[in-house]
Amino acid sequence: MSTETYRLVYYSRNLTTDDGETFAAEVKDILETSRANNERDGITGALMFNAGCFAQVLEGPLDVVEVAFERIQQDDRHSDVSLLAMEPIAERSFPNWAMGFVGLSDLDAARFADVAVASDFDPSRFSGDKLHSILRDLAVEEERAAA
Ligand code: FAD
Repeated sequence: MSTETYRLVYYSRNLTTDDGETFAAEVKDILETSRANNERDGITGALMFNAGCFAQVLEGPLDVVEVAFERIQQDDRHSDVSLLAMEPIAERSFPNWAMGFVGLSDLDAARFADVAVASDFDPSRFSGDKLHSILRDLAVEEERAAA
């Protein structure tokens, strides 16, 4: 069995409600399940929501990342799940995050402004490397702000 660590990057269209309070509850539900499953499976990563899209990085052993991604693709809370990257990596970018959620704070919005397209975030314009860098930079900023 391979012990290599892999990174998977995808984006998708949000199908949960636009209503702020309900959306927050839906994201909370997704994150609780994700963190419990990912801790069990040795997966780390980050999830971002912006302008109707999710973008997510998953990192971990190939077999468990593939199984998690199968579940995620079947989830009807989003659609048009588009895989951007799946590749071996030397080290994890989110070693402390069973599943971080970034992109909603004012700090993130400011950090994100230079990569977002005017008023609409369109992740299909980004490569897997670019989306991974965006999430990693947001995570580093959040960790600094929390310290
Ligand atoms: P279950 O016991 O089947 O369900 C756990 C909870 O999720 C329950 O509250 C249930 O009501 C709710 N739920 C499950 N499926 C749906 C659905 N289709 N519609 C509405 N509610 C539902 N899972 C991970 O394990 N790791 C991740 O990193 C991860 N990231 C995700 C990112 C996004 C953007 C989305 C939308 C989902 C993500 N998920 C992730 C969730 C994943 O799609 C599955 O729902 C989850 O893995 C099922 O796990 P389970 O069988 O242990 O949970």
